[in-house]
Amino acid sequence: VIQTLKHVARLYTCTGSDPDDAGLIADAAIAWEGERICWVGPTAALPVEFDHAATDLSGKVCFLAPGLVDCHTHLAFGGWRADEFALRCRGATYQEIAAAGGGIASTVRKTRAAAEEELYAVARRRLRQMAALGVGTVECKSGYGLTVADELKLLRVYRRLGASTPMRIVSTVLGAHVVPPEYTQHRGDYVSLLTEELLPRVAAEGLAEFCDVFVEDGAFTSAEGRTILEAGKRLGLRPKLHVDQLHDGGGAVLAAEVGAISADHLEYTGPTGIAALARAGVVAVTLPLASLYLRQPPLDARPYQAAGVPVAVATDFNPGTAPCHSLPTALALACIMNRMTPAAALRGATQVAARALALHDVGTLAPRQRMNALLVEAPDVEHWLYRLADPPPARVWLGGRELAEAFPEDRGDAQTRTAF
Ligand SMILES: [Zn+2]
Repeated sequence: VIQTLKHVARLYTCTGSDPDDAGLIADAAIAWEGERICWVGPTAALPVEFDHAATDLSGKVCFLAPGLVDCHTHLAFGGWRADEFALRCRGATYQEIAAAGGGIASTVRKTRAAAEEELYAVARRRLRQMAALGVGTVECKSGYGLTVADELKLLRVYRRLGASTPMRIVSTVLGAHVVPPEYTQHRGDYVSLLTEELLPRVAAEGLAEFCDVFVEDGAFTSAEGRTILEAGKRLGLRPKLHVDQLHDGGGAVLAAEVGAISADHLEYTGPTGIAALARAGVVAVTLPLASLYLRQPPLDARPYQAAGVPVAVATDFNPGTAPCHSLPTALALACIMNRMTPAAALRGATQVAARALALHDVGTLAPRQRMNALLVEAPDVEHWLYRLADPPPARVWLGGRELAEAFPEDRGDAQTRTAF
């Protein structure tokens, strides 16, 4: 069955390569059959075979955009860290909280204690909330287990979510998030556990496409990061990196040298790092919610764009430094904090974000692409992001079907309903 929308006031294809051009078509039409788009263009050029039974949106103030791609999340974890938020509000730093046994280590304790079923139920609810905001594709990292069994537990949650929902889930193994407390006196053994046990298991079971390392003081050194990522590459896991979040540790240069598909955070990356990313074709991922929560100087997207580095925008959704799963909010912040235009922000969470995940059939509205889309009742993306992404999308399509049909809200049992 072919479905068509016509006289859509504005449609952003997000094709092309100019960061500030979101591919606007005024008075647009789009047709799709099953999961795939078959035609996009001005309504005046809509072929007659797609026109019968078209939904006519004449006179409606709205725009249509590709389904959003959140290319950096830590979706599944045990518990929250609102207590630490209150401490940070009183002036404690991220490093001070981590040194006192809080931070990532506290989430690791709660994640290890949580059953796979519980992690699945909570993550599934979160995913449904993200879908309602127009997100159709989510990258999900492990990294709160930090044992072979607990990392595999998180990655199995992601595999189940991908199989049981219409969301496209892309999994990343982040066993190298921090050195777990039991290994702080012999960290080399933890690196060996990753390279000799965890990564081979993940690759053998097909549980992830990417391997990520947090290179930072208090996490992993550049040399350790290189060892882990090279081991992952030999197993077919493509590198990603969390780098230069708290200081310029040469992480962007490392990302270029190991051939990472993306380098994420980059709050403190300097001109040498930007030039290295440009030469190696690495996508820069900005995470403005994390910069905001940590009161960090945010990445300035303009030197990246000037150097030809594509800039993606993601939430970094996690219980510590970015406990907000709203990608539209991150887009508004990217405009305010990262100095991206609304068009560049939208491209950063569609076409560029898909590139950061090596996906070719999402992130644009074009023939043969998956019909993931959102319809927002605002005049254009400028009005929408200027208003901090208000209102939420009025309609969302996932694989050609509307949200309520494609991904019904979970009624679940009482425990699921009360999980926060
Ligand atoms: Zn992250």
